[in-house]
Amino acid sequence: MFGKVLIANRGEIALRVHRACQEMGIRTVAVHSTADATAMHVRLADESVCIGPPNARDSYLNMAAILSAATITGADAVHPGYGFLSENARFAEMVEAHGLKFIGPSPEHIRMMGDKIAAKNAMRSLGVPLVPGSPGALESFEEARAIAEQVKFPVLIKAAAGGGGRGMKVARSAEELEEAWRVARAEAKAAFGDDSVYLEKYLDRPRHIELQVLADTHGNVVHFGERDCSLQRRHQKLVEEAGSPVLSQADRDALGARVTAALARLGYRNAGTLEFLWQDGQFAFIEMNTRLQVEHPVTEMVCGIDLVKEQIRIAAGEALGYAQSDIRFNGHAIECRITAEDPETFAPSPGRVNTYHAPGGLGVRVDSALYSGYTVPPHYDSLVAKLVVHAPTRAEAIGRMRRALAEMVVAGIRTTLPLHQAVMEHPEFQAGDYTIHWLERFVAARQG
Ligand code: ADP
Repeated sequence: MFGKVLIANRGEIALRVHRACQEMGIRTVAVHSTADATAMHVRLADESVCIGPPNARDSYLNMAAILSAATITGADAVHPGYGFLSENARFAEMVEAHGLKFIGPSPEHIRMMGDKIAAKNAMRSLGVPLVPGSPGALESFEEARAIAEQVKFPVLIKAAAGGGGRGMKVARSAEELEEAWRVARAEAKAAFGDDSVYLEKYLDRPRHIELQVLADTHGNVVHFGERDCSLQRRHQKLVEEAGSPVLSQADRDALGARVTAALARLGYRNAGTLEFLWQDGQFAFIEMNTRLQVEHPVTEMVCGIDLVKEQIRIAAGEALGYAQSDIRFNGHAIECRITAEDPETFAPSPGRVNTYHAPGGLGVRVDSALYSGYTVPPHYDSLVAKLVVHAPTRAEAIGRMRRALAEMVVAGIRTTLPLHQAVMEHPEFQAGDYTIHWLERFVAARQG
């Protein structure tokens, strides 16, 4: 097992990884920008290294600085968290070239899944169902139009290098397609330096359902069921639950069997998430994330495992030591992403948190790097806490979340706590009756 792990991230996820390491008897190295000198992950880690100025490009994305920090502190492995360098194949290669272990998949698989067209081609050849659309990158507008007419409007133009919903445009007719083609390519070029785009049929009322997998280096692949992440705003997830209110154990088993067989053939290792759209009982693959997800705690609560410890054990070469049939799904879990934003306009609200009080009690988990007197810097993602509850049934989980939200205090900045409380109180949410478009409409209605 590793003696020391460098955590190449900040905020709640750096803390999450630190906690797993501590419990495993592994020492930790925090890295931080000058803006994060007093951050919780820096305070709790065994050692810390300042890697640059506030701008992430010069600090948390600065590969040379992070590798130097790993070398001078004598770390054995690097955990990238999510975001930042977690899906950067070049970084994974450089970590390994420095004689350290990258706690994640192989650079080849990171690269393959980072190119959404390559990812879809791989999944197609492995028998995983896809959203109908173009077989690869679109060569011309004429090709886009021909395929759109074949799969029927509405369609979506998506960036091959996409992420965070950028470079994605809907077209409902041939006229709109011209505009979507132009705008999506320009956005993709600006955001990713690559204007390759592809086309998918636009599903009008899908749910976003994703499957959590783990694979060791001995050929064992298991899944930990699904998360329903349909509650999104601008393609960003706000509330996630495990399991999905619409899936039965038989549906879960069937999808899981298909996916684990495909990943075994691919020779995938470590943690991964396959994202699907689900409509009318059909699954269609959209992308694979080759890292730990923000919403991984709901899976941990339901399955009773620690996914970060599993990632570390796998990277150290250990075998999983259990089979699919050993994995049990107990009760229901819900996560609310609390962000430092206005709950109605979503305007960012960084600043000093005068008072922070985390809720507690049975079945309540808070993953957060907040403390009273902490100043949320304006430079990074606005996520400040993940409030997670677990209960025997979905109805009890909702009741527990309402109670926990009411107890939580983050004073001094605006947060999305009131929005989450309103979602939990809504009869349609309570009935599990929602698609990926539900939250946008709900937010628009609140804004009047
Ligand atoms: P990104 O990597 O930019 O997040 P994804 O492919 O994961 O892009 O899609 C993000 C979200 O966009 C999905 O969760 C879903 O809400 C929506 N979406 C993606 N593809 C489609 C589609 N074919 N039809 C309808 N909605 C889609």
